[in-house]
Amino acid sequence: TEKELAELVAGGTVDVLDFPKPGIVFKDLMPLFGDGPAFKRVIDGIIAYHDSFDVVAGIEARGFLMAAAIGYSTGAGIVPVRKAGKLPRPAFSASYALEYGEATLEVSEGAFEPGQRVLVVDDVLATGGTAEATLDLIERAGGIVAGFTVLMELGFLDGRQRLSPRPVHALLTV
Ligand code: AMP
Repeated sequence: TEKELAELVAGGTVDVLDFPKPGIVFKDLMPLFGDGPAFKRVIDGIIAYHDSFDVVAGIEARGFLMAAAIGYSTGAGIVPVRKAGKLPRPAFSASYALEYGEATLEVSEGAFEPGQRVLVVDDVLATGGTAEATLDLIERAGGIVAGFTVLMELGFLDGRQRLSPRPVHALLTV
């Protein structure tokens, strides 16, 4: 159930104060990823929530772990949304402000067939800058955003409204 999934995410998260900068409470979800039965249940929960997508896009780096599991389990392909300078071929690029610092993300040209429905995943939705840049890149690359799902949403930062009207789903909102 939704409540069980939210509890699994909460139980698998460690709050790390002042990382990577003073004033930031870093949500470390690696204990959840490291707990095999819990990881399987949250991945299966995400798959069950989204009935129609053709491919999964994961945001570097923790989103890769989720995308690979979802892509493997469903037989959908996976596309990496990478940090700048990693992709070997021409790519779409978007720069944005983070909760801490600034970043550029890239998606390879030709990563999607025109009209392909893309499920986008990441571990944490904070200010929404990362997700906004990612969804923009996916649309520029010809994909259709079928949904954006995170394990945990920091509701007080209101990142979700930046992504409107695309469908946003969080297993746990804090
Ligand atoms: P944002 O662009 O502000 O929504 O930040 C989202 C991205 O940064 C995601 O890829 C998260 O993994 C990471 N992130 C931002 N804030 C946090 C946080 N407080 N705890 C853990 N990860 C975070």
